[in-house]
Amino acid sequence: MGRVDNKVAIVTGGSIGLGRSICELLAKEGAKVAVTDILDKEGQNLVDEIKAAGGTANFWHLDVANEGQVTSVFDEVAKTFGKIDVLVNNAGIGDFPSTPTHELTLERWNKVMDVNVNGVFLCVKAAIPYMLKSGGGSIINISSIYGLVSAPDIPAYHASKGAVRLMTKTDALLYAKQNIRVNSVHPGFIWTDLVQNYLTTSGLTLEAGREILNELHPVGHPGEPDDIGWGVVYLASDESKFVTGSELVIDGGYTAR
Ligand code: NAP
Repeated sequence: MGRVDNKVAIVTGGSIGLGRSICELLAKEGAKVAVTDILDKEGQNLVDEIKAAGGTANFWHLDVANEGQVTSVFDEVAKTFGKIDVLVNNAGIGDFPSTPTHELTLERWNKVMDVNVNGVFLCVKAAIPYMLKSGGGSIINISSIYGLVSAPDIPAYHASKGAVRLMTKTDALLYAKQNIRVNSVHPGFIWTDLVQNYLTTSGLTLEAGREILNELHPVGHPGEPDDIGWGVVYLASDESKFVTGSELVIDGGYTAR
């Protein structure tokens, strides 16, 4: 308890999946959490659950690819909670069904980049002035194992997660002296809507897909959202005060071989 007491955290794509766990655990550990997402009903339900459990949270509708929305939501969060200490860039989309590069349209490529890359840029841009004002902060960018290694599918997604890995390091260097830490998290497969969508659009049943994922991870199974949530709590907290520009790999051994 209390690992992020009194910190104000904005989580993008916070309504379901990894984002939901990140919001729950940050709130449980004492943060005031701005749950943001394009899924309003699920986000509001999560806020109600956090409040019922004694935590502090509010929901804001936020499409991370929309600069106007990003600016106004970050302003409102800072007005409501007084500051912004932590930004978790979690919102992200896949590009299913998988299409090889020579058949991929620029439209589909740009759609992925708009959310997964431009969204991270816009949210970091909006958060930094608040962090400079309050003397520091922690930015956590959710990349992927596919920001470290690749696979012969979904080219735009892998490119976007590779970009997030290096955007993280550049910002870590740019703002190190201002006490703003920037780190990336690299999850292996975690059993969420995004992954289930990936499996079914690949023509697999969920059962068959799960078997393949079991094989892909040396520990013998995919991860759970909390496996990532706890990693984010660490990077958001002062326990990680010497950690910046780093890659926290949480992948059941996927990238170890
Ligand atoms: P998810 O279950 O699909 O949840 C993502 C959330 O982000 C959804 O609520 C989604 O809404 C929302 N979202 C989509 N576009 C948005 C936008 N423009 N602005 C704001 N929110 C938006 O995904 P997840 O599996 O939890 O993944 C979360 C993050 O982890 C993503 O960045 C993903 O790439 C990364 N990641 C996931 C895995 C995994 O195995 N699950 C592995 C490595 C990395 P909709 O449902 O309406 O799209």
